[in-house]
Formats: sequence, C-alpha cells, structure tokens
Amino acid sequence: MATEATMLERCGSKCELCGAETELSPFVVAPHTQVTVDHAAMLCDTCKSQIEDPETMDANHWRCLNDSMWSQVPPVQVLAWRQLKRLSEKEGWAMDLLDMMYLEEDVANWAAIGMDDDEEKPRDVNGVELKKGDDVTIIKDLPIKGSSQVIKQGTVVRGISLADDPKLVSGKANGQSMYIIAEYTRKK
Ligand SMILES: [Zn+2]
Repeated sequence: MATEATMLERCGSKCELCGAETELSPFVVAPHTQVTVDHAAMLCDTCKSQIEDPETMDANHWRCLNDSMWSQVPPVQVLAWRQLKRLSEKEGWAMDLLDMMYLEEDVANWAAIGMDDDEEKPRDVNGVELKKGDDVTIIKDLPIKGSSQVIKQGTVVRGISLADDPKLVSGKANGQSMYIIAEYTRKK
C-alpha cells in the first residue's frame, strides 16, 4: 500500500495522463511487471483501457498528452511517448508533439523497448536485455527463498545464466546458485 499512497501523492489524485479526478489505479509500464513508484503510473480507467486495447483508442481523449508529455515522471513520459507514437500514424498533431518531446536516454530506451509487446526476454531495471554470461549488480536487498539470508544490495553476480521464465536469471551469489528476478538487477 505504501507504493500506492506515494503515487497518489505524486499525482495529486489525478490521472497522470489525462488529469481526470476519478478512481485511479497503478498501471505498470511494460516491460516492467512489478508495481513500483518508478515503474508505474496512476491512471483512470479510460486511459488504462485505451492503452490496453489500442483498437478502442479515441484520438481526442489523448489531446491530454499536450500537457502530460511534460511530466517529470519517467513512467508517465514513457506512456505519453508510446501513445503519441501510436497516434502519430494518423494524427498530425501527435507527430508534432512527438517531435517536441525530449526523453533522457534510458527513458527513451525503455519507451522503445515496450513497443514490442511479445518480446519475452529477461531485462534489468532499466529494461536492458540480459544475456548469458552478463555480470549484474543486485539493486535491492533480496530475501533468499527458504532461508533467512538476504542477498545484499550491491552484490555482483558474475556470469549469469538465463532461465525458462523470462522474468528470472540464475547465478551465484553468497556462494550459492539461485534464481534472481531480472528486474532487481542492473547490468554492469
Ligand atoms: Zn486518464
């Protein structure tokens, strides 16, 4: 709940894309899968349903991006960029806005990656694809399943392997082999 409370405070209880003051819920921005303050936006049902089902997209609703594209919040920037990108195929105004938009490099990478919805590859916290043999740093203390130990934030895992589940990688930390959620690592 703490995450949601922080997010509600961030957005002032308004949809972070269209500003609607209605019931909001966190929307995780792909390829991320966990609701965190850094990876999710608070959205109204209208924005959410049109993002999830682009067929139902009402171009006029998305005029709101005129304002929200200037958000300082990365997940909101990513959503705005992707919606403008989709709209720009048909709407000249969306293309103009897209041209004006500026994203930091890692935010731009994140925005571009998520456009491929069916790409199932393990990705680190920045959305960078992880490959066999990569070295990664653990970005937060992680409890080890079935024990009271934790892998400390900052631990380096060298030469990871991939797992069947694309959300996981495997590697050795604290002298033991284990599976690690890819999103809790940063590629070195
Ligand atoms: Zn909205």
